[in-house]
Amino acid sequence: MTDLSDLPPLREVIRAHGLAARKSLGQNFILDLNLTAKIARAAGNIAEADVIEIGPGPGGLTRGLLIEGARRVVAVEKDARCLPALAEIAALTERLEVIEGDALEIDLAAVATPPVKIVANLPYNVGTELLTGWLDPPTWPPFWSSLTLMFQREVAGRIVARPGSKAYGRLSVLAAWRTTARIVMDLPPTAFVPPPKVHSAVVHIEALPAPRFPAPAGTLKAVVKAAFAQRRKMLRASLKGFAPEIEDRLIAAGIDPTDRAETVDLERFCALARAVDDG
Ligand code: SAM
Repeated sequence: MTDLSDLPPLREVIRAHGLAARKSLGQNFILDLNLTAKIARAAGNIAEADVIEIGPGPGGLTRGLLIEGARRVVAVEKDARCLPALAEIAALTERLEVIEGDALEIDLAAVATPPVKIVANLPYNVGTELLTGWLDPPTWPPFWSSLTLMFQREVAGRIVARPGSKAYGRLSVLAAWRTTARIVMDLPPTAFVPPPKVHSAVVHIEALPAPRFPAPAGTLKAVVKAAFAQRRKMLRASLKGFAPEIEDRLIAAGIDPTDRAETVDLERFCALARAVDDG
């Protein structure tokens, strides 16, 4: 065998390597190679980027990325059972490197050369934690230029939500601050084996070169977290721990102290973070 498109169907790979899906590892595999190619294309120009794939599993999306011409794929997989299946792909191309390990613990910035695109059908149990880490790196711009990620539909909706909607919250504000995020694909449970209970969606996130509005990152994060922790409360109540005269700071930021978090847009949250820090 010399060609990636000659590899056996994924069902056979799963059977041959005994890769029964484990719920504890968030394993819901995509076996349709047309679908994995489509996800790979949603990542944009991968021919001129290193792609970090989190959780390749039996390698369906990995194949998609390689066949669609990724310059290089670094695939990080926690489940050692998947490594022999991934080695079969790596035997056919020098563009694939497989790292066994936990994506939450590996220094991903150190394993790839910029520009870096992260692409993943994420394990749902660690997806939000990985995303919040990627959105909040020590310096901006981050080591990645884009993220193309599968989430539960409801989480995807929260990432792209606008003020005034029920889904608008901490993730929406932090994503909007320094990225553009949009849903590029919706997938029914039947797209996966085994099918999860919920619908899924792929979100494509591009890093902006600089934040849309200036704000101290730590304070913005803390203010937004507190504001949405009690989203039904007026902001003068939910944020009273930030400053004795929080009402003045809210007014300085153009926010009515009786407003609730879900009505405040990004620009005013940034103004509030600056007003809190300026004390
Ligand atoms: N990419 C494959 C696909 O699309 O069919 C598998 C996706 S499955 C939803 C999630 C994968 O992430 C599994 O292979 C699982 O073993 C792996 N995984 C789970 N937790 C992980 C972690 N902390 N670090 C790296 N991989 C992880």
